[in-house]
Amino acid sequence: MKLTRKEELLLEIGLFCCGPVTCVVFMAIYDYIYMYSALFGVVIFLAISFFYILCLVFFVSILAIVFGWQVEDSEELTDESEQKAISSDHGGHFAEVMENIRHEKLEYRAIFDLNGRKLAEGTLLSPEKCNITTEDWRSIYRRRERVVDLHNHPGRSNVAFSGKDFEAFLSSDFIRKMIVTTRNYNYVLEKPSDEDGYEDLQDDIYDYVRKMNGKYIWLSIFSSRLWSVVVARKTAKCFGLKFSIEHIHRQMPKNMFFLA
Ligand SMILES: [Zn+2]
Repeated sequence: MKLTRKEELLLEIGLFCCGPVTCVVFMAIYDYIYMYSALFGVVIFLAISFFYILCLVFFVSILAIVFGWQVEDSEELTDESEQKAISSDHGGHFAEVMENIRHEKLEYRAIFDLNGRKLAEGTLLSPEKCNITTEDWRSIYRRRERVVDLHNHPGRSNVAFSGKDFEAFLSSDFIRKMIVTTRNYNYVLEKPSDEDGYEDLQDDIYDYVRKMNGKYIWLSIFSSRLWSVVVARKTAKCFGLKFSIEHIHRQMPKNMFFLA
């Protein structure tokens, strides 16, 4: 779930315009009324604030209608048939790969067994989508073992799972856990029950995420991360999945104060 540069720009212009226009209109009214009562001035001030927020919500809703369908499509885990993935290597074990792809500018996807040993890693050399190679998928299917699916979301936005991520997670029952790693957070999605049968929900989850993205788009006024987290939490709850967040505390190098 990531706005393209064009959408971000439109959003910024809109937010920028809402303020001055609202202020000019209401300050004129305020000036006129101020002569009568100070209390009334306070009421008008509250009305300005309320109207201002209303303007923002209105503008973002218009954006949602015009651009809404693109919002969560810009980032995705792609079907292996769509584009040719190539192998990549950021280490052999889970923790190592996770830390090594966290600050990458492109997306990388890696599959691990339940002990954290890497089975495959790949990329589409894109900052918005990723996958492992078709051959790697085949060998993973042949193993018939449960796996953990990891990929990174590059950039500063720290957004959680997209609609396509949820869809990919439910595409196979043997994917038990999906982790998205970003600059400052790890997002974890788990199938809490040991049973299979999650695959049956796959068709509905993408549409549900789209619906929630539209419903909560106003949160993107404050932060696209907050927006994505609320949508992910609602979606996980609705489909019986476990969703959790780990905040990465950046550690200072231990010898930093002894360098002199
Ligand atoms: Zn993703």
